[in-house]
Amino acid sequence: MSQNKSIKRIGVLTSGGDAPGMNAAIRAVVRSAVFHGIEVVGVFKGYEGLIEGDFKKLHVRSVAKILARGGTILKSARCLDFFEPAGRTKAAEKIAQAGLDALIVIGGNGTFRGADKLASEHGIQIIGLPGTIDNDLSGTDSTIGYDTATNTVVEAVDKIRDTASSHNRLFFVEVMGRDSGFIAIRTAIATGAIAVMTPEAQMEIEELIEILDKGAKSQKASSIVIVAEGEKHGGAVEIARLVEAQYKQYETRVTVLGHIQRGGEPSCFDRVLASRLGLAAVEGLIAGQGGSMAGIVNRQVVYTPFSEALSSKSPSLDENLRVAQILSI
Ligand code: ATP
Repeated sequence: MSQNKSIKRIGVLTSGGDAPGMNAAIRAVVRSAVFHGIEVVGVFKGYEGLIEGDFKKLHVRSVAKILARGGTILKSARCLDFFEPAGRTKAAEKIAQAGLDALIVIGGNGTFRGADKLASEHGIQIIGLPGTIDNDLSGTDSTIGYDTATNTVVEAVDKIRDTASSHNRLFFVEVMGRDSGFIAIRTAIATGAIAVMTPEAQMEIEELIEILDKGAKSQKASSIVIVAEGEKHGGAVEIARLVEAQYKQYETRVTVLGHIQRGGEPSCFDRVLASRLGLAAVEGLIAGQGGSMAGIVNRQVVYTPFSEALSSKSPSLDENLRVAQILSI
């Protein structure tokens, strides 16, 4: 693609669920843009702020001391108006009024669906950065926030394991993942969970009970089942209720980890990923890669069209599920 020297001013926003490392990505975008002689405008509250024109110019020092901070200094929001063409037209008008030549959006798959529409309907150059704890995008080995969120889960489950072993209890730990089991499967491997239940694998209660029975027969002292929130029975509380009715050997307990998974300082991995991708987004816009998500695959920066980043499922999910299953015997 041809070099795009006409980019003089860009906007950056964070959208959807917040993820640790979003601030590191904002910092990297601002500093990389300044390095390349491009002005940066911060858009507050995601697409809501884009529609309202809630903009503020960002300088090199505006992003000092945020590399290690969780959350997002630009705030994030879920915006219903952006689902409508009229909302996106308003956003395009604000972009034109502010003299923005391009946009960098940091978010998950919903954010990219919106960005794809804004780009195609109004001819706006947009690069997406995968900022979501869910890791449910193609075109990057890991999304920004996934490593930190899974480390948080592992730390919590290790503590739960200590108390579970002391009382011979069966623990159900619910983790985030409305539509995907990436967090659940990775943390199931890392914590030695006896079973993992995800939206993709669709495990029946009878199957789970069979696994628990086998564990009891082979003298497992404690058992942890990791449950993704979007699993088909309705989450850990409901599964525990269904299992309890048939399975008396263990005392059953449920922990829903909830929003602690989104918070906290980003890990070293997420800080570096966000920093590399922030630079990649700016240089991608200059190189004419608009309409795509910047990601890292096999250590290399790659640009994947939004439609592709949203479409295919990673084969690593099945491979990792197999690892979790084999090692939990
Ligand atoms: P996370 O993965 O952390 O949930 P996300 O980016 O998927 O992040 P969403 O709430 O799904 O979070 O999407 C963020 C915003 O993107 C929505 O509030 C909405 O404004 C916009 N959006 C999502 N889907 C669409 C769509 N199909 N068309 C237009 N805009 C959309």
